Amino acid sequence: MTETDEQLQAEVQELREHNAQLERDVSHLLKHDHMTGLLNRAAFLSRVGKHLESTNPVEHPSVMIEIAIGGLPRISGNLGRHASDYVISSLAARLNQQDDVPGLIAARLDYQNFALFVPNVSDALKALSIAKRTLETLKTPVDWIDRKIPLDATAGVAMSNATDNDALTLLQNASLALRQASDRSGPSYSFFNPALADATKRRQDIIGAIEEAADNRYLSLFYQPVYSMTTGELTSFESLLRMSHPTLGFVSPADFIPIAEESGLISKLGGWSLAEACRTAVTWPDNITVAVNVSPEQFYNGTLLTDVHHALEISNFPAYRLEIEITESTMLRDSEIVLSQLNALREMGCAIVLDDFGTGYSSLNYLWKFAFSKVKIDRSFIQALDSTTIVKGVLRSIIDLCRNLGLKVTAEGVETEAQAASMKAFGCDYVQGYLCSKPVSQNDLAALILRNFSDKLAKSSSAQSPAQSPAQPGTAEIRKIQALPLKAVTSGR
Ligand code: C2E
Ligand code: CA
Ligand code: CA
Repeated sequence: MTETDEQLQAEVQELREHNAQLERDVSHLLKHDHMTGLLNRAAFLSRVGKHLESTNPVEHPSVMIEIAIGGLPRISGNLGRHASDYVISSLAARLNQQDDVPGLIAARLDYQNFALFVPNVSDALKALSIAKRTLETLKTPVDWIDRKIPLDATAGVAMSNATDNDALTLLQNASLALRQASDRSGPSYSFFNPALADATKRRQDIIGAIEEAADNRYLSLFYQPVYSMTTGELTSFESLLRMSHPTLGFVSPADFIPIAEESGLISKLGGWSLAEACRTAVTWPDNITVAVNVSPEQFYNGTLLTDVHHALEISNFPAYRLEIEITESTMLRDSEIVLSQLNALREMGCAIVLDDFGTGYSSLNYLWKFAFSKVKIDRSFIQALDSTTIVKGVLRSIIDLCRNLGLKVTAEGVETEAQAASMKAFGCDYVQGYLCSKPVSQNDLAALILRNFSDKLAKSSSAQSPAQSPAQPGTAEIRKIQALPLKAVTSGR
């Protein structure tokens, strides 16, 4: 071999080594998070998967923990990107350095989420203690220049078992548990259980149904009548959303409205129900108004005013016959955004009603903040009427106050004649509840409205010819309200 051959061989060898190193570097880069050096999601799942394939999950269960670090955007905003990068690297080092946890695999899943996998964890208690200790380690403030940065962390914990024993399922279970821990107040960790998966599945199905409901196949509005306490006449209907789905069945608004709010889909429902309510109500006699419930979220995503305007315009419905019902939770948040829209709605001519009055913490405050047209006293007060006498005093005071402020008062959820009698005696203006009628479908509206008409006709004809028999009582409900035993209640004061 000549000297040049040897030189050539040496160069080839060097090149091979260089390439091998490059391959190792590229492979490392592909499997690891650049900032922390921890495994990335794909590499983590692959490594955990290999471990699980060779382990019996019943004899040697493993635990998966997903951890969310809170407040990173705030740290980055206040102290700069370097500070939040430093925090992330420090936390990664803390995660990885739990030397007394044999076989631990740590990963950075995304910007603020980490995962830990620990094999051979004897039981759920041991798994929880690992999670709690990890959280404590992570929550210790990080030293940054001359200050200590406080930290927040939340964990979801899932254990392998005979059915859930692949890496992806375990991580999904831990994510569901993490979400539960983040959504609720209480401990900063949560343990996965199968009911959580069922609840999540139902939630996702409901989101799907709301999205599909773009053409509103599954939605409808029901209407519940509101009567005047003094005349017994029908004055308005509250529109209430209903969802009926081929596979989910009937879904209560108490279930799907919060989901629509959280998933940003409420404007879609809200816009539809405003338009549908106005379209329906325009066919009613002029003296009957319609009340539409509006969620706090609708004030924040900026479409409410245009939705109301559009609903009125396309149906040619006069604004003065539209009541917007809001709850105290709407008034709780950034009040300027809410107040300016409430004022705009009132300028358009709509009435603004404060719903569920009394369920919040500082209900009275809101009465001074905005000139509502009406207040609806929450059902829970009406029900408490039967069990405690203190409520009577409270209700009387509330109604007196509202009257002094020029507000009309509706009692909602009135189920018994005794409840209606009490509310009438306290000076309440309107009544709504099962005593009068449950919410009815659009098909059944005509009957309710006609009954009211027949009642009016009977009264006016009897007024014109006193010789005729006394005014025909209207429906059984109206009779009940008109004949309320006022004295009995008054004497009970
Ligand atoms: P809400 O606005 O307080 O509506 C009154 C609820 O009480 C309705 O329940 C009604 O069916 C029920 N109710 C009425 N009278 C009685 C009674 O005498 N006894 C009992 N036990 N219940 C009575 P629903 O229809 O299930 O609605 C629940 C909640 O869902 C509503 O409470 C409202 O907050 C929300 N919601 C309904 N429709 C809409 C909507 O179109 N938009 C928004 N944002 N929320 C809506
Ligand atoms: Ca309402
Ligand atoms: Ca209510």
